[in-house]
Amino acid sequence: MERVDLIISNGWIITNTPKGQFVGDIAIKGGKIAEVGSNLREKYQADKVIDATGKIVAPAFANMHTHAAMNLFRGIGADLPLMDWLTKVIWPLEGEFVSPEFVKDGVSLALLEMIKSGTTFYLDMYFFEEYTAEVIKEAGIRAGLGFGILDFPTKVASSPDEYLQRVEEFIKTFKRDKDILPVVAPHAVYTCSPETLKKAFDLAEKYDVPYHIHLAESQGELAQVKEKYGTTPVRHMKNLGLLSERVIAAHMVWLDEEEQEAVAQSGTKVAHCPESNLKLGSGIAPVSDYIKKGIKVCLGTDGAASNDNLNMLEEMSTMAKLQKGIKLDPTALSSAQALEIATANGFESVGIKAGRIKEGYDADLIIVDANKPHLQPLYDPTAQLVYSAQAGDIETVIARGKILMENYKVLTLDEEEIYKKALYWKEKILNKLNG
Ligand SMILES: [Zn+2]
Repeated sequence: MERVDLIISNGWIITNTPKGQFVGDIAIKGGKIAEVGSNLREKYQADKVIDATGKIVAPAFANMHTHAAMNLFRGIGADLPLMDWLTKVIWPLEGEFVSPEFVKDGVSLALLEMIKSGTTFYLDMYFFEEYTAEVIKEAGIRAGLGFGILDFPTKVASSPDEYLQRVEEFIKTFKRDKDILPVVAPHAVYTCSPETLKKAFDLAEKYDVPYHIHLAESQGELAQVKEKYGTTPVRHMKNLGLLSERVIAAHMVWLDEEEQEAVAQSGTKVAHCPESNLKLGSGIAPVSDYIKKGIKVCLGTDGAASNDNLNMLEEMSTMAKLQKGIKLDPTALSSAQALEIATANGFESVGIKAGRIKEGYDADLIIVDANKPHLQPLYDPTAQLVYSAQAGDIETVIARGKILMENYKVLTLDEEEIYKKALYWKEKILNKLNG
């Protein structure tokens, strides 16, 4: 019998392929899905078998827009509009506290939260990203690390050119890393000049890496861009030649028909962040329209300071319900579509072959215990995963064939140590806030 590393047996498998959902087995070898079928235990000798009887086995999530280190700011500055929240609360705190140590500890907390809620890839935008590689590798997940660029000075750099120089060094360091994907991440069109935006894009082209930016997020941004450039954020990007397949634009709440067409034509991807947009009162992106126009939509939580968690299961449910609500149409976005957006669309947006339970795909999977009052009886695993399941139902998480969490225990991170560090930062930040 052929040997494999792991068999997940007799689970309700949600494939994200036209095959849909069925009870069966998954054989995993060398980090990839070797076969999906039935009675695989009779065909393969497995080093380990997980009995998934009565459980749901689904692809793991790809969180396509976040600021992981901001987990340490969770709960601060709630109930403010975006521009006030940024300029009066977040930016002053970041100026005071953000450092390599802060970023490492914040990311550790985020990684613990991500693994516990089934996420095995995240696309980030922040500072001191180079210091997070070690903890990401330890955790066992993958990340696209967007090195933030701004026109104003921070601890990272004092001029746009200095940011760009740092970004280039960062890309060179991680270009061939198997866990880290370097990403060029100018913050937004209202914090970066056209020249900075273009130079950043040239850098992304030169090294063939993604370009990640906040775009068309709020009415406040629309007003600022109109005053400064006499146009809308998306048209501004188009005029600069910056709509492209390389671009993953976060938010994209305010797009008219013509802009939606331009985004679709260019292959620009949308990282939809419905809960952050709701919490900051920014609006609701009509992503069901975008999908009909052929735009690739993926899903992100945004930072924990504006959401206020990194829970992709919850985000996916909110997304689907919002589209039904704003379109007055329960078919506007199905549970199967929502799951594909939260999983395969994210991975595929950065060229990773994961997010589907299919031979040859990376084995990035979650196992959900359906033996819970809110999941019984189990008629339709896909719909019930999207609309009924809670993050706390995820009992096992696998990334590239490696078990990161088993029976609710995270195996790769020291949970107690992470909470201790969170408490350390909380006391420092509280001292500052209380003057
Ligand atoms: Zn953001």
